[in-house]
Amino acid sequence: MQLSYRNRMIIYNIVLFIFVFLIVVFCVFQGTSYYYINQSKNNLLEMNQDVSLYIEQSLKNPESPESLENRFVTDALFLSKNIANTEDTRALLFDVKGKFLADSDELSDNSTLGAELSLSQSQSKPVFTLKSINNQSVIYFVSPFTIDNSILGYIGFVYPLTETDTFLHIVSILFSIGGFLGLLIIILVTVSFSWHFIQPIKDLTKISGEINNGNYNLTIHYKHMDEIGDLTQAFNGMITNINNVILQLESERKRLAGVLASIDDGLLAIDKNGNIITSNSYIKTYFNVSNPKTIYDFEYQSFLRDIFDSLKNGKDHIIEEIDCNDRNLLLIGSPIREKGFEENYMIIIRNMTSARHIQEEQRKFISSVSHELRTPLTTIIGYTDMLTRRKVDDPEIVNRSLNTINREGHRLLRLVDDLLTVNKFDKAEFDFKKTNLNLVLLLSDVVEQMQIKASQSEVDINYRSDELPEVLGDYDRLQQVFINIIHNAIKYSNSGDIIDVISTLERDHIVVSIRDYGPGISEMEQKRIFNAFYRVEEDRSRGSDEGGSGLGLYIVKQIVEKHDGKIEIVSQVGEGTNIIVTIPILSVLIYGGEADAKALK
Ligand code: ATP
Ligand code: MG
Repeated sequence: MQLSYRNRMIIYNIVLFIFVFLIVVFCVFQGTSYYYINQSKNNLLEMNQDVSLYIEQSLKNPESPESLENRFVTDALFLSKNIANTEDTRALLFDVKGKFLADSDELSDNSTLGAELSLSQSQSKPVFTLKSINNQSVIYFVSPFTIDNSILGYIGFVYPLTETDTFLHIVSILFSIGGFLGLLIIILVTVSFSWHFIQPIKDLTKISGEINNGNYNLTIHYKHMDEIGDLTQAFNGMITNINNVILQLESERKRLAGVLASIDDGLLAIDKNGNIITSNSYIKTYFNVSNPKTIYDFEYQSFLRDIFDSLKNGKDHIIEEIDCNDRNLLLIGSPIREKGFEENYMIIIRNMTSARHIQEEQRKFISSVSHELRTPLTTIIGYTDMLTRRKVDDPEIVNRSLNTINREGHRLLRLVDDLLTVNKFDKAEFDFKKTNLNLVLLLSDVVEQMQIKASQSEVDINYRSDELPEVLGDYDRLQQVFINIIHNAIKYSNSGDIIDVISTLERDHIVVSIRDYGPGISEMEQKRIFNAFYRVEEDRSRGSDEGGSGLGLYIVKQIVEKHDGKIEIVSQVGEGTNIIVTIPILSVLIYGGEADAKALK
């Protein structure tokens, strides 16, 4: 089991404390014992000297008739008994040969000091032995009793170290309490010290964990300027730096994402293993795969995987065009080679649908133009061929032929004019000469012009109008608009019909309606008659002198829209047609929005 730093610190401190404590206990006990034993030894030697001195004095007393040995026994015994009483010591006397003579404690065993006695006898000097009897320390002491260098006998003491034992007992109790309290203090101090010491480290660990989880908005607070303070400061600096780097990376990432998002093409960057490094929103739009992680997430777009495989196999530049989800997509695959980096790959997906559509429209337009040019040209060439080859003399045939050639020549000229106009619309700088003009006058003028053509077809044009404010427009172009519409109305009217031309003011717009009672236009065809070269029925007017090219309403719509107006059609088959043109009045253009300001130019 791995111990925490705090627990290890507690254990180390406890072990250290116990070690120091035992040394102290050992020294105190040893010192005290040594001191007391020495003291006791001195005491015993002093007692021995006192006895010797006393007996010596008494032996020198001439009045005493007793032999030296007897005097030794009586005096020494008397004295040592006295001493023993006061010092709580047991005194024993032995003769020169070691025979027991007397004991201050009569009941005791007199062989107690046997070993010490024989040692003292052999060495002729005092012998001390420390013994422990019934848990009590006792000094055994035997010393030769000498007068004038001759040994009279031996004197022994059994000296209990009661005071020492009591002292050591008290000391050991005090040490136990002290040790216990010391241990407690050591644990408390270590715990609180380690708390102060470890807490900042714990904080650092916690914050490191948070950083690991991606939270960089942190600061560690530590007020002391010590080593931990330095570490904390370094850590805070590191977090700030990481934060700055992250912010930088984030802004770089946003910039890159912005660049990717603003590219009008789909983009896929892929690494060697097919993992998607980056992609933009067009990928979802084109392939309906959101957030792809690998090239294999494009389950139904095997062409992407094929390009990736080819690039991986060393092909350098791949261009492919495919149809996918009603789109025409151009795929451009190329490797990304950067020094020091593994080779990655990029596939750009360009939506070519509208470009292809425009191409198709242009192709159709050219084919229609060719067709339209071909028809009158074929007629002209046919007639001129006939006139030159057959050498026709009949003036009527010649006249009819020349009329046809002339009519077809005019038709060709009209067509070329229309084509030139259409071509001008496609250019941005198409020039309108706009002035303030009165639509009532313009319409009256047009109606008057068309009246001749109408009467030729036995059609009558009725024009009614409110009083109208001025509009801003190109007089000739607007004339062209209404001539075209009225011309159509005449073309498709039956003889005896009337055409109603009405202009009114509706709020801030002038509404001009050109109503005929001809064959009408079906709903499906209404959507297409404004397309270039579109004619409802090839034969409806083709055979006549008025055979058109189908560019009329296309040009009309362009001109009306260039005047910020709109053109609508209300028609029912068999009931006639109403073409409604709406044009804003001048004040709308002056006080109106941005688009209107454009129209003023
Ligand atoms: P162009 O005007 O170029 O000489 P066009 O008259 O045939 O030729 P548009 O004016 O563009 O061509 O008209 C397109 C088609 O719309 C016509 O061919 C015709 O079929 C149909 N159309 C236009 N006006 C009417 C109308 N008033 N009534 C019935 N059909 C119409
Ligand atoms: Mg027309």
